[in-house]
Amino acid sequence: MHQHFCDFAGHYWECEGTALRWIAGNTEPTVCTCFSHGGISMEVGDHGECSIELLACPAHRDDQMRAMGYEPGLTVAPPTADHEEPSMFQDAEGNKTVGFCLWCNKDFYTMEDHEEHTADEMAACPAFQELKGQQCMPPVLQAMFESVGLLADEEADDEK
Ligand SMILES: [Zn+2]
Ligand SMILES: [Zn+2]
Ligand SMILES: [Zn+2]
Ligand SMILES: [Zn+2]
Repeated sequence: MHQHFCDFAGHYWECEGTALRWIAGNTEPTVCTCFSHGGISMEVGDHGECSIELLACPAHRDDQMRAMGYEPGLTVAPPTADHEEPSMFQDAEGNKTVGFCLWCNKDFYTMEDHEEHTADEMAACPAFQELKGQQCMPPVLQAMFESVGLLADEEADDEK
C-alpha cells in the first residue's frame, strides 16, 4: 500500500498498487511507479520518503473528469493525425494543452509539465502551497462550479 494525494478534494488516500490515470489517456488502471526512484513499482521497496503522486481518488475521479470536461467512463481519446479534433484545452493563445492546474490555473503543454508541477506534493504550485492544509476546494474548480451554478449563491454573480 502507498499513498496518493487527491488533488481534486485535497486529501491523502491509500492505493493498492494500480490506479487509473485517465488524464494520461489510460482506460485501464496502470501500476503505480515511483517518480523519485526513476519509475520502479511503488509496491517494491520503501517509498516513505518519496514524492507522492497526485491523483484523484476513486471516489472523486468521476467528479474530476466532469470538472475537466470529460464524460466519466469514456475513453480520453489520444489525438490522432488523421482525425484532428480540436483539443479540449487551449491556452489564451489557442495553443493546445493537455490540461491545467486546478489550483493555479497553469496550463500544461505536455505530461512532463504536469508531472513537474505536481511533483513533491505540488511544490511548484504557489496556489496549492498557500492553500494546502485548509481542506478547501481548488480555486479554479470552485470558479467552475460557481459559473455553472453548482455552488448556491453566497457570492451570487450578477454579472451577465
Ligand atoms: Zn497508487
Ligand atoms: Zn520511491
Ligand atoms: Zn478524493
Ligand atoms: Zn498549480
